[in-house]
Amino acid sequence: METTAEPSIFDWTRLMIGEEMPYAFLFEVVFRSFVMFIIVLLVLRLIGKRGIKQLSVFELALIISLGSAAGDPMFYYEVGLLPALVVFIVIIFLYKGITYLSEKSERIERFVEGVPVQLIENGKIKFENFNKEAIAHDEFFAQLRLKNVDHLGQVHKAFIETSGELSIFYFDKDQVKWGLPILPDRNECLTDIKNVNPLSEKIACAVCGTLADEIAFASNHCGHCGKSKWISAKNHPRIV
Ligand SMILES: [Zn+2]
Repeated sequence: METTAEPSIFDWTRLMIGEEMPYAFLFEVVFRSFVMFIIVLLVLRLIGKRGIKQLSVFELALIISLGSAAGDPMFYYEVGLLPALVVFIVIIFLYKGITYLSEKSERIERFVEGVPVQLIENGKIKFENFNKEAIAHDEFFAQLRLKNVDHLGQVHKAFIETSGELSIFYFDKDQVKWGLPILPDRNECLTDIKNVNPLSEKIACAVCGTLADEIAFASNHCGHCGKSKWISAKNHPRIV
């Protein structure tokens, strides 16, 4: 009966250099890495990208393609440098081509780059847009806090740009509205406001930031999003 050899786990030679590879291959890795690095640098300069602080989805696709094509030939014995070069040439043509088409057609641009989406209007979360964007409340609130926002009534408008960055437009000091507090230490949510006196306290929906109106106080449901989680609203100006 034929027996297959068990794979040897923690075989140090294989672990360090790889299967049946002489250590001298490391010298080739030095050469391969050198060449690929120079090529990546050239490609990025050719594409005309200045930096990568914030990437659109299109640029992210470009970087991932470049990265994976560049990495393999650096250290895979059986992968040559030329196929990677071909990949790079194709990527450059695609990038330039799609950029050109985006400039010609707004539809293509919207498809490739996406569009800015409004997340806040007059201190209220635009619930319908928010759910479409892959951004969590916690993350969104954290980004607002980084801009010294501690309740939503300080924010006139906020957009998520195609790069993923937030653009925020604030209310003037004297125009700040009552809004949902977003500090991490905000109080526990109320689940029932039927017994709260609407005249003595302003209450905001903890989910969308809409202020509770008479109907909401009576029904205990937010008029905008329908949820019943509430927090005492704030209306002090933003301190910068
Ligand atoms: Zn709501």
